[in-house]
Amino acid sequence: MDTIAYEAHGNLYLNITNRCSANCIFCIKNYSDGVYGYNLKLKKEPDVGEVIGELGKRRLPDYTEVVFTGLGEPTVRFDELLEITRWLKSRGSAVRLDTIGHAKLLYPGRAPARELSAAGMDVVSVSLNAHDETTYNQLCRPKFRNSYNSMLGFAGDVVTEGMKLRLTVVDLPAVDIGKCREIARGLRGEFKVRSYATASP
Ligand code: SF4
Repeated sequence: MDTIAYEAHGNLYLNITNRCSANCIFCIKNYSDGVYGYNLKLKKEPDVGEVIGELGKRRLPDYTEVVFTGLGEPTVRFDELLEITRWLKSRGSAVRLDTIGHAKLLYPGRAPARELSAAGMDVVSVSLNAHDETTYNQLCRPKFRNSYNSMLGFAGDVVTEGMKLRLTVVDLPAVDIGKCREIARGLRGEFKVRSYATASP
């Protein structure tokens, strides 16, 4: 059976897709089927009812956060993500989204950060991944042009819409951690350096 929810670090993580709008050279998909001993390869993407059915089996107050992450980019299923978030918030869970931050390119004409905020999303962790566009394109190989600037715009929107922002980078030699920390400060986001061994969205 597919793993659509898994526990680690006191959190519950949701794995709703294996698709992504990037193809990062450091993605765990390149060398593993999952993390923490869970196989996160999906034979079929779960529908909203299946995810909520899985959540209904858990004692949600036991988790610090419920986190959209997994072996893919959660915002490629944006409407499902919003619906599940609303369900979780109606039950009092703290909810976080881990994302590559391409939602404005995936959904032109929509206001993704505003919609996330309206659904009740508490924290958005955006993969900053690089200090400039050239490095970003080399490391993340995004499917859309202008992904780096769009990601920065989305991160700014997260704060404007009243959610907590976190920006993350992977500890690779090509990444200027100091410059990335400055970018995070400028966007009023928390900053986190992730280990290469656990890189996903
Ligand atoms: S690391 Fe994340 S954003 Fe990059 S390809 Fe993997 S799932 Fe997509």
